[in-house]
Amino acid sequence: MKSDRRSFIAASVLSVGALSFPASTRAVEISVNQDGAKEISIRGRVVCLTEELDKTFNVMPDCANRGHVYSIKTAEGRIYPLLPTDSAAAVWMDQRFRVRDLQVTGRSFPESDFIEVINFQSWVDNRLHDLYYFCDVCMITTFKPGPCECCQDPVVFRETPAGENSQI
Ligand SMILES: [Zn+2]
Ligand SMILES: [Zn+2]
Repeated sequence: MKSDRRSFIAASVLSVGALSFPASTRAVEISVNQDGAKEISIRGRVVCLTEELDKTFNVMPDCANRGHVYSIKTAEGRIYPLLPTDSAAAVWMDQRFRVRDLQVTGRSFPESDFIEVINFQSWVDNRLHDLYYFCDVCMITTFKPGPCECCQDPVVFRETPAGENSQI
């Protein structure tokens, strides 16, 4: 059920990616759902909200014990904390997601700043790329590292120009 929704959303993400985003790094609203949630696209880099706030407000982070509050910070300085969902797991699990210029498709909700990640992409040489993991044996794509759900071999990180990979 969940994976059906993901693949449906991934298809819409690809079509949005093909539009190529303007230079602006503001959140782009893709759609508003009847329940009030908005599908948005934001460009930025991963930061820890606690550590960011500590720079100015001295909030005394305890990330080692409490965990990082990973967030997307845009070039304008707006910070969107990420809900710790399975769809966002790669940020916690793979350092590569924390050093890239990301384009994040997600849902934002009324009364909250947190966003639910739907999909991560990256910018490389001004070109949008898809980020995913792949099992070469089973030809299976996944969105987080770990053993392949089919053969249990570790899946391999991939970053390919958006829209060029027919496997996702
Ligand atoms: Zn932290
Ligand atoms: Zn496999």
